[in-house]
Amino acid sequence: MYLYNSLSHKKELFTPNAPDEVKMYTCGPTVYHYAHIGNLRTYIMEDVLEKSLRYLGYNVKRVMNITDVGHLASDADTGEDKMLKGAKRENKSVMEIAKFYTDAFFDDCDKLNIKRPDVVQPATGCIDEFIRIVSGLLDKGFAYVAGGNVYFDTSRLDKYYVFNDHDQEDLAVGVREGVEEDPNKRNKNDFVLWFTKSKFEDQALKWDSPWGVGYPGWHIECSGISMKYLGEYLDIHAGGIDNAFPHHTNEIAQSESYLGHKWCNYWFHVHHLNTDTGKMSKSKGEFLTVSLLESKGYDPMAYRLFCLQSHYRRNLVFSWENLDNAALAYQKLIAKIATLKPEGEVDASALEKLKERFVGALNGDLNTSLAVTAVYDVLKAKCSDATKLAALADFDRVLSLNLLSAAEKVRDQEAKEAAARADPEIDALVASRTAAKKEKNFAEADRIRDELKARGIEIIDTPQGTKWRRV
Ligand code: AMP
Ligand code: ZN
Repeated sequence: MYLYNSLSHKKELFTPNAPDEVKMYTCGPTVYHYAHIGNLRTYIMEDVLEKSLRYLGYNVKRVMNITDVGHLASDADTGEDKMLKGAKRENKSVMEIAKFYTDAFFDDCDKLNIKRPDVVQPATGCIDEFIRIVSGLLDKGFAYVAGGNVYFDTSRLDKYYVFNDHDQEDLAVGVREGVEEDPNKRNKNDFVLWFTKSKFEDQALKWDSPWGVGYPGWHIECSGISMKYLGEYLDIHAGGIDNAFPHHTNEIAQSESYLGHKWCNYWFHVHHLNTDTGKMSKSKGEFLTVSLLESKGYDPMAYRLFCLQSHYRRNLVFSWENLDNAALAYQKLIAKIATLKPEGEVDASALEKLKERFVGALNGDLNTSLAVTAVYDVLKAKCSDATKLAALADFDRVLSLNLLSAAEKVRDQEAKEAAARADPEIDALVASRTAAKKEKNFAEADRIRDELKARGIEIIDTPQGTKWRRV
């Protein structure tokens, strides 16, 4: 599989450290509010990546954190903790907020068929891990204590901006407006590993540490949780493009300084979902959620298809019109699949050919729009319905669009409607008309048709026989 690696800035053949096992880490949600559909675009594409790797034969161990402490409103280490802000907003405790929005996040994931990572770890459950790494960094001279906080010393690194060919716009995302300079920092890019002093003294969750009672910085949690479950060598780390700087840059700085060797080989960044007025943001307050889409009558699968139709390394513009197009495409696709009958033999060589295109799409830097095209190719292929159904079931292991189960529902619905329409008396009259026609008794056939018409029944003669419907 070829994947674009943000570290090398090119597509590379993906080769994990162990031949059949992939160690994958993905940054999880900050649980102070609902996830917006932009966040969920990132989780959908990471889900497709994980499923593609599994589909291609790798065992994947995937770990994700839940940020329930330490993510400040400003990346410059000066803002209030987002969790505390959420708790104040809703008059709840931080832990109540964390539980509520963690559950809401996984509900959204379920609706979008996003698989739960093998390990999901809230940051508040790994404080010892973080303290161990911070201590190690201090011992090795990569960190210093100033004004009560522990900082990472970026001047000790040969290269700090590892992703620095990201365009200015990406870099700017990390450096938010209203940044206040922290006078304790020796260098502009130094970042907090452990806080004991903050101007927000009402920080709710605090722990004892060798540097005093306090709480961890945001970046340390991903390094700590990843190392705890995946060890010293990571194959692939994923997240949204806004996390490349400073979050992932800082993760690399502290992890490699602590470990003394390269930490993660591949970095996978999903570009943003924007609205026509700009970037979607949780902190803006008003934003689009899966529940909102549902309340407007959209099937979450239409949103998943909308995401799959474009490449993860392109910004995607959300508009209701674009979503309508995806919803219609999904409806038509499922209706088409519903006409396939599970009859005939599966033609193994035809199936292999169909799979080749699909696999080729995944291998080419996770080209999901081509993978979706491979689904339409199946429908157009000249092979048995059984072969087509087998191919669709196979592809859906990665796409997770409910291709077969949604089609089944359409068929059930049609059958129910047909049953509701059934009327033995009308059936008998239609049969008498067919018999009259056969006997060339056209007067009788016409009389019956007129009688049915008067009762609001329309007769439709088709090559498969005569049908009727109420008009
Ligand atoms: P957060 O909960 O804010 O920590 O973000 C969760 C994930 O969503 C991270 O991987 C972010 O990089 C990603 N993300 C944030 N905004 C967007 C967006 N507009 N489009 C796509 N991904 C995003
Ligand atoms: Zn992270």
